[in-house]
Amino acid sequence: MPITPDQQAEIDAQRGESRQTLRATVPGMEAHLYKAHEVLDHGFVRVIDYMGDDSAIVQAARVSYGRGTKAVQNDAGLIRYLMRHWHSTPFEMCEIKLHVKLPVFVARQWIRHRTANVNEYSARYSILDREFYIPAPDQLAAQSKQNNQGRGAVLEGEEAERVLRLLREDSTRAYDHYEEMLSQDGQQGLARELARMNLPANVYTQWYWKVDLHNLFHFLRLRADAHAQYEIRVYAEALCEVVADWVPLAYAAFEDYRMGGVQLSARGLDCLRRMLRGEEVNQDSSGMSAGEWREFKAIIDG
Ligand SMILES: Cc1cc2nc3c(=O)[nH]c(=O)nc-3n(C[C@H](O)[C@H](O)[C@H](O)COP(=O)(O)OP(=O)(O)OC[C@H]3O[C@@H](n4cnc5c(N)ncnc54)[C@H](O)[C@@H]3O)c2cc1C
Repeated sequence: MPITPDQQAEIDAQRGESRQTLRATVPGMEAHLYKAHEVLDHGFVRVIDYMGDDSAIVQAARVSYGRGTKAVQNDAGLIRYLMRHWHSTPFEMCEIKLHVKLPVFVARQWIRHRTANVNEYSARYSILDREFYIPAPDQLAAQSKQNNQGRGAVLEGEEAERVLRLLREDSTRAYDHYEEMLSQDGQQGLARELARMNLPANVYTQWYWKVDLHNLFHFLRLRADAHAQYEIRVYAEALCEVVADWVPLAYAAFEDYRMGGVQLSARGLDCLRRMLRGEEVNQDSSGMSAGEWREFKAIIDG
């Protein structure tokens, strides 16, 4: 269960309070504040705070005194221009603070994004919950034959059952031993900072994560992408929905230029131009490696 009844009561109490402010607020984001968006079997993302809106990006780009122009069309055009030309600092004027609960092996991928501020739940100070990520049957897949960093066919029947049983048994046994080592009954009990070392990488951790919009877009570009591992991608996808409600103009530009757009090498561009002129181009005449050519064809064939 991602959220206990006590935790939900705390969230409800926080949502029951409101304050007046002169600062920019966004109705779509106010609706998200504090709520837990469930991800995986025990995880979630929650918006704890945010600063700025689409106007803040425009305002910073123009270094203006007020809220920027009133015309949404002008703002959309400027935001698209900034995104297109990698004029990124105006996007850094918006910030978001999140509470994320995630398996440790997902956290290891997530923490590689260095341009954020993080504070993680301390397993030296507190006892970790008995919560482990166990993949849903449709995510229990074999190693991909084409991609060394990916999944292939979904496991079925007896093999799937055996794998699930092993995952559950190992997690349970490791947690039982963790508890046994911590236990004070008739023994001193091992320090929390040591007892945790036998826990597997599918145990859940939590952190507060604060990042600006420019670096969040970079994170989403990499982690909401089809090549990202499913278990981090589902968090990124949940965040995409939040960001679309927070800064709809910036998110639309991001979707268009970054998520939906592609980057071509000079060689790729040359091939495309030759093809548009009616020339027959194949891998040999493209000057590309087999892998590059496969990726290029996937782009142009759609
Ligand atoms: C599909 C996929 C597969 C991956 N596979 C592996 C893998 O096999 N092994 C592995 O180790 N990692 C792997 N990674 C992680 C990857 O190499 C990056 O560490 C991660 O995506 C974070 O990207 P970043 O450094 O651009 O982000 P951030 O740390 O947020 O940095 C954002 C940008 O800031 C700049 N920056 C930040 N810090 C510095 C710095 N100290 N010096 C210079 N510039 C800096 C860079 O321009 C950087 O792009 C993988 C990532 C993906 C998406």
